[in-house]
Amino acid sequence: MSIEQTILKLREELRQHNYNYYVLDNPTISDFEFDQKLKELQKLESEHPEFFDPNSPSQRVGGEVTKDFKTIQHDYRMYSLDNSYSKEDLLDWEKRIKKIVDGNLQFSCELKYDGASMSLTYEKGKLLRAVTRGDGIQGDEVTANVKTIKSVPLQLKGNYPERFDIRGEIVLPIKGFQKMNEERISNGEEPYRNPRNTASGSLKLQDSAEVAKRPLECLLYSLKGPNLNIETQIEGLEKARSWGFKVPSEAKLAKSVDEILEYVNYWDKNRHSLPYEIDGVVIKVNSLFLQEELGFTAKAPRWAMAYKFKAEQVSTVLKSISYQVGRTGAITPVANLEPVLLAGTIVKRASLHNADQIEKIDVRVGDHVFVEKGGEIIPKIISVDLSKRGKDSAPTQYIDYCPECSTKLIRKEGEAQHYCPNYTGCNPQIVGRIQHYISRKAMDIEGLGAETVSLLVQEGLISDYSDLYELNQSQLIPLERMAEKSADNLIKGIEASKEIPFERVLFALGIRYVGETVAKKLAKHYKTIDAIINASMDELVNVEEIGDKIAESVREFFDSEVNRGIIERLRQFGVQLEISAEKLAHQTNKLQGRSFVVSGVFESVSRDELKKLIEDNGGKVGSSISSKTSFVVAGDKMGPSKLQKANALGIPIIDEYKFKEMLI
Ligand code: AMP
Ligand code: ZN
Repeated sequence: MSIEQTILKLREELRQHNYNYYVLDNPTISDFEFDQKLKELQKLESEHPEFFDPNSPSQRVGGEVTKDFKTIQHDYRMYSLDNSYSKEDLLDWEKRIKKIVDGNLQFSCELKYDGASMSLTYEKGKLLRAVTRGDGIQGDEVTANVKTIKSVPLQLKGNYPERFDIRGEIVLPIKGFQKMNEERISNGEEPYRNPRNTASGSLKLQDSAEVAKRPLECLLYSLKGPNLNIETQIEGLEKARSWGFKVPSEAKLAKSVDEILEYVNYWDKNRHSLPYEIDGVVIKVNSLFLQEELGFTAKAPRWAMAYKFKAEQVSTVLKSISYQVGRTGAITPVANLEPVLLAGTIVKRASLHNADQIEKIDVRVGDHVFVEKGGEIIPKIISVDLSKRGKDSAPTQYIDYCPECSTKLIRKEGEAQHYCPNYTGCNPQIVGRIQHYISRKAMDIEGLGAETVSLLVQEGLISDYSDLYELNQSQLIPLERMAEKSADNLIKGIEASKEIPFERVLFALGIRYVGETVAKKLAKHYKTIDAIINASMDELVNVEEIGDKIAESVREFFDSEVNRGIIERLRQFGVQLEISAEKLAHQTNKLQGRSFVVSGVFESVSRDELKKLIEDNGGKVGSSISSKTSFVVAGDKMGPSKLQKANALGIPIIDEYKFKEMLI
């Protein structure tokens, strides 16, 4: 088989596996096998850039960075929908329709997916572009980001039309959303509010590799174009499904308003069994011929109607308010409720956000409160049933002192949350920081779990993460449930963490707002912890993606003498506090077989350093772009003719940071 045939075959196989996994939810190979095939394809593609294909499955990992999203006019306007809330509304709508068209009316009933609307254009079976709804007439082109969504086919199958648009909704399924939030919380970041906003925010991220990490899905519901050769909405859904699109199977034909209501009521009750959120049902006249007759008002089709569900609310009693202290010292008030069934789950707790929120709704212990599960995952208290409030109830007094260590709380200007400033003496902060340090994404210390950390702190054996490195067998064995073997494993695990690379150590330190991505950026930019310790606010905010809030938090962390002391100890124990020398440059064969052209002016290295890095790592430096070039590394002021040539040959253009990532 020729190289080209091998590449084509791999692409086809990967496409099919993507489809099995993300559209059919029915994978037939393991993730490992999939990754092996993908790696093989990526290797061949980088060695043979002449076979580059923007719709190759390898392009799904993202990497393209969009600074400004291009505005694109939709070929077919994207309308909004009229809303209905009752049987009467639906009967009125049916009456209006019957005044315009005659004949037997049938309806397609579909779920109303709660996400961000999207229009995809396909030409000759390939994804040409993806555009947001915008104002309905024109939207933003977000193709690079949408390509990373695995359920969006890059190449269609079957008998598809030459060119058409397909409309759908980008959603973030609930499980994926919860997982993202767990990670954010463990990074000391504010959790995202709801899946819908997170989905639409994701589409506008500049770095498509970031989008690729988010478990987004695209659910399709309508076709637009000439010569589609379909007669009904339901038929359109089936056709789209057969071309490889993810079209949920819940759509159903209804022959009367009563049948529509049956569908509405069923999904109002059962919507929580779906993997993603819906906010209602959409009803469409099924015949496309009748749809055309009916046409549009200024804002919406006459042939379609949304039926919006009411957000579910229940009333229950607020038993008490407790205050949790996070590892960063942030205080979160939590409402403890009389357990009640809401949206398919028993709710015992609701979020109260912060002191302002409590004051705003004037909620008091003993109150009957209304709890709602709207777009948010954690239910919240909406209001208080004042008619049921006892005479002797008094306004809630927000705590002034830490519930754990009794230190007076502080509140920074402009911040809604209270903090316990007792950095070194407040138990949940001490334990939380060490638990974060050892966690899987940080130092990943095998043999040491969150509970053991609590125990070690409680026993006075450790009080910050640097103490871990001084633990010995004889201290551990007397502990409850600690056999010789587990003590041994624990010490080995701690020892092994000295090999964990700098960027993960930086994340493990638990600096507020410094999650994994920010830690990587800082590590790459500064290379050593000393460089970060010495960086001023101004310098920090100049680093890509570092804003005032993060920079301030970094400064605050390293300005603390306690923290600098801990870091000195980590240094003595041999923890990696800089990017290791061989990683930085010398003598690897990571770039073997790849040829680079360097163009423009760079921020973090000089051109000569960059060329040396390429050569030191086994790559070749070329002077002009040809079909043999694997990558163009572009800095500021890259020459326009080079840019044109690279684009014409389809050669990937990367910046200095992406390039450096190849070396890690
Ligand atoms: P609204 O934004 O409330 O005017 O509702 C209109 C939006 O509902 C459309 O722009 C779509 O993005 C979205 N939508 C979700 N599911 C469907 C569906 N099955 N059919 C049509 N539109 C839908
Ligand atoms: Zn405290």
